[in-house]
Amino acid sequence: MADTNLQMRLRQLPQGVPRESDFEIVAIPMPEAGAGEFLCRTRYLSLDPYVRALMSGRHFLGTPQPGDLMPSRAVADIIASQHPAWQVGNTVVLEAGLQHYCVSDGTDVRLARTGTAPVSTALGVLGMPGLTAYAGLTQIAELKAGETILVSAASGPVGCMVGQLGRIMGARTIGIAGSDKKCRWAVEQAGFEDCINYKTQDLTERLTALRPHGIDVYFDNAGGDVLNAVVRHHLARNARIILCGLIAQYNLADPPPGPNLGPLMGARARILPLIVYDFENLRDEFEDRAAAWYAAGRINYLEDVAVGIQQAPAQFAKLMRGENFGKTLVEV
Ligand code: NDP
Repeated sequence: MADTNLQMRLRQLPQGVPRESDFEIVAIPMPEAGAGEFLCRTRYLSLDPYVRALMSGRHFLGTPQPGDLMPSRAVADIIASQHPAWQVGNTVVLEAGLQHYCVSDGTDVRLARTGTAPVSTALGVLGMPGLTAYAGLTQIAELKAGETILVSAASGPVGCMVGQLGRIMGARTIGIAGSDKKCRWAVEQAGFEDCINYKTQDLTERLTALRPHGIDVYFDNAGGDVLNAVVRHHLARNARIILCGLIAQYNLADPPPGPNLGPLMGARARILPLIVYDFENLRDEFEDRAAAWYAAGRINYLEDVAVGIQQAPAQFAKLMRGENFGKTLVEV
């Protein structure tokens, strides 16, 4: 119905890997824009791993409660406006919530600026995940040309941008991913020198063969056993570990015991935390440069798109099982 707004809400906090039944789709009346506000229709909704960390109560952005609208960043079209700066027809990126329609007062709203790339990339490689890779590499990693970067979840939007931007910056890149299909894509389409399937291959054996003197930068998107193995066996002298994501523990009720950090001393290595929200000042610069790199054919990406908000619970569960292949989206 044209005057109905569909939303995905939390039904209950998940135990372990989220299931579709942890969420519900509800229909409510369409919202209306008041003075100083605009109404938009969402086109693409982003599903992100951090949302599972919110639900486990271990994220600084707080914990959603049963009945709450699930958070989601969206690409949306403005369809009615009483806001002085935003007009009908503008396509924007904003925190819309996982729903068809939303009202905004303009806070934290940006025009979608993806150049020649499809607008959906404003949620993936040219959006927050891409900025995460860019900020980590340009502001934290102290990367030098010729150094080796290792990155986990290499076929996802953060991981594939770490590989491709790292390569543009003159680094050698090795990926880690959870299937042969993901590894093949990382090498053939995202330009990684090599990619290790940590589920079927001996990570330590492969990494030792590829880099006997260790890794200079480990961009960690996963945590867990892979992080432990890299810390234990594969740090080059003065290595930097960028702590970006800990998805291996988001579905656990309690965080696992930490890695044995002793090897950091021998390697004079450092662990450096990365929070993308600290680098909003880089957003314009990143969007300009990433759009130009995309236009020059230097950035490739994958999207895992489900169509229809009714599919969003299953699509989120799939992401949290690690079965997504590329940036996880819902097309409305
Ligand atoms: P992805 O699209 O790469 O999806 C997550 C991937 O994580 C999965 O496909 C899977 O890939 C991998 N994974 C590894 N271990 C597990 C596990 N136990 N369960 C499920 N998946 C697992 O996600 P993003 O690129 O959006 O994000 C990557 C990481 O970066 C996440 O941890 C996220 O939370 C973090 N992040 C951090 C930010 C920050 O500011 N610090 C900002 C944005 C993202 P595979 O099969 O290859 O292992």
